[in-house]
Amino acid sequence: MAPKYGRSETAKITSVKAEERFDNIDFSNVVADGMALSIHTAYTCPCGTRIGFQKHDFERHLQQPFSNVARDISKCFDEFAQEHLGRVRDYLDWVCPSCGLPARVYFEFWAGGKHGDFGFHLHTVVEAAPPPSSAN
Ligand SMILES: [Zn+2]
Repeated sequence: MAPKYGRSETAKITSVKAEERFDNIDFSNVVADGMALSIHTAYTCPCGTRIGFQKHDFERHLQQPFSNVARDISKCFDEFAQEHLGRVRDYLDWVCPSCGLPARVYFEFWAGGKHGDFGFHLHTVVEAAPPPSSAN
């Protein structure tokens, strides 16, 4: 039985938990016992390519949201998020340099605590597989 992928007609959208693709999904400026949390993470594409990110990549995106993927793909991601991800709205997206798979990770930003602590949690990865007939 073929799964149903929302209302999208231009791309097949799939979602996976962020921890299935990223080797680190929590960032914060909290320092515990003199040890800061890692500021690095890497996404592993289904094709095997690893794409590295740093904490500031996500921070920068909070201030200046933009999309790196094709507009129709971006729209499909938006629709998917609206339907399935509820309040999680912040994202970072990219196109795999090896296989061309557009992907986006949605993340939640948090702030609080007496020391001005803040951080974010990578939530869900959405990936799009455009039909072969409609390559950009
Ligand atoms: Zn890839």
